[in-house]
Amino acid sequence: MTDLRIVPPKPFDTDVAIVGGGLAGLTAACRLAASGQRVTLFEARSRLGGRMLTTGVMPVAERPWVDLGPAWFWPHQAHIRALVAQLALPVFEQYRDGLARYEAGAGSPPESFDPPGGADPSFRLVGGMAALTRALHEASQAAPTPVAMHLDAAVRAITVHDDHVVLNGDGVHCTAARVIVATPPRVVARDITFVPPLSDTVVDTLRGTVTWMGHAMKCVATYNRPFWRDDGRSGYAVSWGGPLQEIHDACMPPHDGMPAGYALMGFVAPRTSAAARAFRDASSEARRATVLAQLARLFGPDALSATGYAEYDWTRDALTCGPNDDVPPTAHPDYDDTLFDGVRADDPWNGRLVWAGAETSAVSGGYLDGAVASGWRAATAILRALHIPT
Ligand SMILES: Cc1cc2nc3c(=O)[nH]c(=O)nc-3n(C[C@H](O)[C@H](O)[C@H](O)COP(=O)(O)OP(=O)(O)OC[C@H]3O[C@@H](n4cnc5c(N)ncnc54)[C@H](O)[C@@H]3O)c2cc1C
Repeated sequence: MTDLRIVPPKPFDTDVAIVGGGLAGLTAACRLAASGQRVTLFEARSRLGGRMLTTGVMPVAERPWVDLGPAWFWPHQAHIRALVAQLALPVFEQYRDGLARYEAGAGSPPESFDPPGGADPSFRLVGGMAALTRALHEASQAAPTPVAMHLDAAVRAITVHDDHVVLNGDGVHCTAARVIVATPPRVVARDITFVPPLSDTVVDTLRGTVTWMGHAMKCVATYNRPFWRDDGRSGYAVSWGGPLQEIHDACMPPHDGMPAGYALMGFVAPRTSAAARAFRDASSEARRATVLAQLARLFGPDALSATGYAEYDWTRDALTCGPNDDVPPTAHPDYDDTLFDGVRADDPWNGRLVWAGAETSAVSGGYLDGAVASGWRAATAILRALHIPT
């Protein structure tokens, strides 16, 4: 006799799977979880934050305070400012009092100059960007259904069905009603296989979308005191003498029982010049010596007495950079969300596959502000599809 019992459909493992635990993925995760969605986040690294990378350096090595990824946001950036305010994170203004330094080329004597006033101030987080990652993680765990976080979990394949998606990868097997892909577009194009395949137009767009600051390398020297401030200098310098091209004061106020930290941070010239390539390919010890020698040229011999040194070359970070991302764009890319906006009426994935990430945002594309805007946009698209008030 035929068994006519109705077998209930197998529930999916989660309502929304998120690929990538950077600012965009975390923002989307928190918003969806706060609205009662079951969220599972897969992050390929063994830490959250993505390009937000804060480290401890001597003399305060046990606590993170030096940002090797993003550090600033600006007054006009409404999304990141709203998030920071919502999470009640303390903020301080970038130090820029005093004279700046300029070096016209190798061997040119450095000069002091007074930068023109009137530029927008930039703001930093007390405790660095690690404070934002930590606060978002805490918010994600305080939600009615805490977000399930999987680290060391690289997603390799996404299959989009009519009513659900399936994710597979390194230690990853998950069924979900929807997926948000919140990794840099070029990394998606290189590392994740889609079934059915993405259209040529989408693949071309992913490959053509520059990962903002993927070409960057930051070097930071830390000190027992801000000797440049004592000398009436802001710590800002522009140099064509190398290896650092743009240098800023990177001090951190005291917080959470940690004393103030004093530092100078510089961006290394891009790999496009032979000198920059040689610097980036040298040993860390050799780079430290070259950086301190340059800081001493610009700010005096006290710069040689660094207590610590940290650096990060993002061109070597395969979870940030896709092909060609080591080449800096000549101007800030004009990021366009036409293909990435899951709210659009002709969405070919019927709302199952939703894009996020700083580079998918037409608002502040590439920046922290764009990452927050994109995470918010992705979560909103899903909540609206479910008729949940946003
Ligand atoms: C040196 C530097 C300085 C910067 N300075 C500033 C600044 O001062 N102000 C500013 O506004 N912006 C700045 N930016 C840009 C800022 O960092 C980005 O806008 C923002 O962090 C991007 O967040 P995101 O979540 O979109 O991407 P990401 O932070 O790149 O997060 C993507 C995540 O996806 C993960 N991932 C990748 N592939 C997979 C996979 N297959 N499976 C699972 N997970 C995967 C990655 O590990 C990563 O954690 C800077 C960037 C750099 C590198």
